[in-house]
Amino acid sequence: QFDTAALRAKDAAHHLHPFTDTKSLNAAGSRVIVRGEGVRIWDSEGNEIIDGMSGLWCVNLGYGRQDLVDAATHQMQTLPFYNAFFKTTTAPATELAALLPQVAPPGFNHVFFTNSGSEGNDTIIRLVRRYWDLMGQPQRKTIISRHNAYHGSTLGGASLGGMSGMHEQGDLPLPGITHIDQPYQLQHGKPGESAHDFGLRAASWLEAKILEVGADKVAAFIGEPVQGAGGVIIPPASYWPEIQRICDKYGLLLISDEVICGFGRLGHWFGCQHPHINSKPDLITFAKGVTSGYLPLGGVLVGDRVAKVLIEQGGDFNHGFTYSGHPTCCAVAIANVSALRNEGVVERVATDTAPYLKAQFATLADHPLVGDVDSLGMVAGLVLYKDNASRTLFDADLGVGYLCRDHCFKNGVVMRAVEERMIIAPPLVMTHAEIDEMIRRIRRSLDDTLAGLRA
Ligand code: PLP
Repeated sequence: QFDTAALRAKDAAHHLHPFTDTKSLNAAGSRVIVRGEGVRIWDSEGNEIIDGMSGLWCVNLGYGRQDLVDAATHQMQTLPFYNAFFKTTTAPATELAALLPQVAPPGFNHVFFTNSGSEGNDTIIRLVRRYWDLMGQPQRKTIISRHNAYHGSTLGGASLGGMSGMHEQGDLPLPGITHIDQPYQLQHGKPGESAHDFGLRAASWLEAKILEVGADKVAAFIGEPVQGAGGVIIPPASYWPEIQRICDKYGLLLISDEVICGFGRLGHWFGCQHPHINSKPDLITFAKGVTSGYLPLGGVLVGDRVAKVLIEQGGDFNHGFTYSGHPTCCAVAIANVSALRNEGVVERVATDTAPYLKAQFATLADHPLVGDVDSLGMVAGLVLYKDNASRTLFDADLGVGYLCRDHCFKNGVVMRAVEERMIIAPPLVMTHAEIDEMIRRIRRSLDDTLAGLRA
């Protein structure tokens, strides 16, 4: 029922895609996705594909959930929209604000709603500055982040992020934001260095940066528990506790960007609660999984340290979006969080699905192209090596990841390519049989990539 050629022509004529070279896209034509059910999507030509990326790291509950549709329908029929400005609210916004502290780490009792993760991080910049102003330390303005981090696409989000390709376009980062290197051992490790020692050394770059900027000028540190868009960079277990220690030592606010890791992705409600991460943030950014992507919603969970000062001393916080606390989005979020809870999805990820994914994903390590296979919860990544024995990477210009990604699509699985890394973040509700099928399709795609390279 879909005229793929006509859709592709319209797309090429009018649609500027995010993070896409539109000229090269138009030569090949867009892939038109038309339907989803469970962990699978279908394109306009009828091809069935296992969605190894949960859309864009967000469809945690999978596609086709009638309860989420019903929640949206009911709210749209009752009150599709009203705002939360100037002392008004709606029942879904308030109910969700009260529900989130029940699943958040202890000490998080307040929430500020946005439409997206990017807006959440912009909100955080303003909250952090407001906090230090109210604390009588307005000179504490600098936020330290990490190279290759992703914190969104607004000017603030892209500045907090550490993607050089984003900074080059638009003269970023904004003043007051500075970066340290990421805890990626393949890039920054020393020969013979243990993961433990590397984690401590990577965390020490934060202290060095604090001293360089001046401890009295640094406001906060922001990081994703596991860097997602940067390529599923899982830090050594020694990293986050040391980051925490340094933040405590200098009184910094610690911000955990949980846009990907939140809502069960790592087998805990928030990534900072995973024993491998184990941090105690003051502010948490969330988005994506809060609605399983069914409608746009994001926000900031504000911990008691900051909330107390804002509420007791802050007066108006001159910030907000028309759709902050959009009732239909909040109604869907309530249905989604309730389903994650009532169906025990998060616990099942921790005790069953993630360990199974880890074991099956690890079997790919025997493939001649593959090394450094790793996962945490429901995110996983591997490195494509030209020569595994000597750990030689392919020439970046070859774009081997993109070749592999295209083979994945042909073989019915979505994987994402990030430089030398191939990554997945499948829906949390994947069954063992679906994981098996996904891994078979990935292996076939690796075989096809290898065959193509040898041809
Ligand atoms: N932060 C992280 C860690 C993300 O992965 C993303 C998006 O992928 C964002 C922020 C930005 O979220 P959004 O695209 O909803 O603005």
